[in-house]
Amino acid sequence: MLNKILKDAKTIAIGGHIRPDGDCVGSCMGLYQYIRDNYKDRKADVYLEDIPESLKCLPAVDMIRHEIPADERYDLFISLDCGDKERLGFSGALFDTAGRTYCIDHHISNLGFAQEDYIVPDASSTSELVYNLLEDEKISLDTATALYLGIVHDTGVFQYSCATPSTFRAAARLLEKGVDGPKLIQDTFYEKTYAQNQILGRALLESILFMDKTCIASYVTKKTMDFYGVGVKDMDGIVSQLRLTKGVEVAIFMYEVETNVYKVSLRSKDRIDVCKIARYFGGGGHRKAAGLTMAGTYRDVINNLSERIEAQMENPQGR
Ligand code: AMP
Ligand code: MN
Ligand code: MN
Repeated sequence: MLNKILKDAKTIAIGGHIRPDGDCVGSCMGLYQYIRDNYKDRKADVYLEDIPESLKCLPAVDMIRHEIPADERYDLFISLDCGDKERLGFSGALFDTAGRTYCIDHHISNLGFAQEDYIVPDASSTSELVYNLLEDEKISLDTATALYLGIVHDTGVFQYSCATPSTFRAAARLLEKGVDGPKLIQDTFYEKTYAQNQILGRALLESILFMDKTCIASYVTKKTMDFYGVGVKDMDGIVSQLRLTKGVEVAIFMYEVETNVYKVSLRSKDRIDVCKIARYFGGGGHRKAAGLTMAGTYRDVINNLSERIEAQMENPQGR
């Protein structure tokens, strides 16, 4: 229960991973609003990098802090949806100075970097875990909206295998608070800008199949991103579309963050544990969805990744 996590903390900082996604923003804002609604004598603040435009329809996102005020220090730091300390980014400085630290997360690669934690690798989302910690009757519409959004995003609108009966039960309770599910799904998950659709089309056109058509890969360079006027926050969903290709086991999508440095997203349909591959190269995530950053040319990156994928295909029990 949340009471036990907060204990007597009067000031609470909430932080999530760099390049925040739906679950990260949803879990942070859900917890933030619940504390604001139900613990009026406490001070809570959310620290996140700039969030995707499509998520700015969530209540109270204008309260998110993007930098740390001088000399700010908290009794408690709660890390949400973040698998390791480095991925907290700028808010890591508050983690270091906090009186206590607590982590709520579902990344299988999370080795428990906070003093105490609630880590459930099988959970659909951090937002579902946050829901589990709250008293149902004290959840407001704004809290419910944020948590519902988080669950929707990390389950691919309830499609992935991580969406279990308990996920649906949590989502049903949140809907009963009055959440406009269809609108939230349409506006934050499916809707794309024209430029986002163009870069998706470009990535699909340039994709290649390899390893007997069991892998698909595509990439975009910084130059291409500039040409279409898109940034890193516009790349969501491209790797999921690649993964849908018939016959494919693993999808790889990468975009250049600086010259010959790529942010890589890996998705698996079933057999391959892409988290293992990401961890091998210093990244992390989940069994079927993982990420990492790699240096080298597009070809180097694909060659290095294929070696690990091939090894797993040949020896599914090993790495
Ligand atoms: P992405 O491909 O960025 O959508 O990430 C897929 C999943 O892996 C998400 O749950 C991320 O939080 C996680 N992830 C992405 N990159 C990293 C990384 N470098 N280290 C650890 N986890 C990551
Ligand atoms: Mn996330
Ligand atoms: Mn998540």
